[in-house]
Amino acid sequence: MNETNLRILLRARPEGAATAEHFQAVEEAPPSPRPGEALLRHRFLSLDPYMRGRMSGAKSYAAPVAVGDVMEGQSVAQVAEDPTGRFKPGDWVLGGKGWQRFSAQPVSGLVKLDPDAAPVTTALGVLGMPGTTAWVGVTEIAVPKPGETFVVSAASGAVGSVAGQIAKRMGARVVGVAGGFEKCRFVRDELGFDECVDHRAADFPDLLAAACPRGIDVYFENVGGAVQKAVWPLLNQFGRVAFCGMVAEYQNAEPAPGPNLAQVVRKSLRLRGFIVSQHPAAFTEWRSTGGRWLREGALRYREDVVKGLDRAPEAFLGMLRGENFGKRIVEIT
Ligand code: NDP
Repeated sequence: MNETNLRILLRARPEGAATAEHFQAVEEAPPSPRPGEALLRHRFLSLDPYMRGRMSGAKSYAAPVAVGDVMEGQSVAQVAEDPTGRFKPGDWVLGGKGWQRFSAQPVSGLVKLDPDAAPVTTALGVLGMPGTTAWVGVTEIAVPKPGETFVVSAASGAVGSVAGQIAKRMGARVVGVAGGFEKCRFVRDELGFDECVDHRAADFPDLLAAACPRGIDVYFENVGGAVQKAVWPLLNQFGRVAFCGMVAEYQNAEPAPGPNLAQVVRKSLRLRGFIVSQHPAAFTEWRSTGGRWLREGALRYREDVVKGLDRAPEAFLGMLRGENFGKRIVEIT
């Protein structure tokens, strides 16, 4: 093979905000598959907020990426060659080791994708890990009841957009929080949420209170920070918070001073963190349910595709700043 393998490595661990300096691009020869492996040509790379955690050495539920290793991420790829015979050249698969043009991966870890069932990129977003996260978070953790007020932050994003749509189907009154007029318009008009409040507005806490006249029964937490602070006093007695993530704080060197968690006790709130990988059966379940809704036109999604693997670091850092609009994916041209 004449082509080279562009790979994006973790050059150094950030203390505080990650910058382009913490990544390094290298060109190498494509790998040769070892026994049991297939050679993949990556087509799409998923960019997800959790990757910021993998860049740091802090103790977490998953091991960090080692300095000098290729960045971790899911990838939609096509099989270039498979000496095991399990896949044909050109087959679409979902794999890992995404921040590179080629990889050799054990065939046992690859999930075959059917491009006729749904666009292959949906395996990275609406029907993949983020969509499944929304499915678990809403149906198992948040569990809104009909008529309850359900608020979700990062509402135009990969997880939040699906979470709000599921809560709506469960009969909740759904209020999104998103950054800027256009994202809020999308959330309201295209995703069908009842309201969406712009967290960049100077009077955001007042606007949120006005959008939730009966308080908040369920909060699906995706961002933390100032949004969480505004949500907290509006939580109703016996309210629930599904702690999914706090992306607003991932670039901070020190954790921000938190809200008054004494209210968790006083109002009998239930807080429960969760990690989607603890619900392995949900991936298949959501792919089937979400796939059906997608085919019926009942599930909307939005993707934000950046072309060129060399742009992955900047695209990733931009996502952490909110520059993505929908599920950010890199098309490896
Ligand atoms: P998104 O597609 O929603 O992209 C991130 C969004 O976060 C940005 O577009 C931006 O939207 C919002 N954001 C960033 N900074 C701020 C800020 N300071 N204040 C308010 N909003 C901010 O990402 P995902 O849908 O992939 O992830 C959403 C959350 O879910 C993350 O916290 C992630 O870590 C978590 N997650 C958790 C999983 C689990 O298993 N627990 C699995 C997958 C994701 P806006 O401009 O609208 O503010």
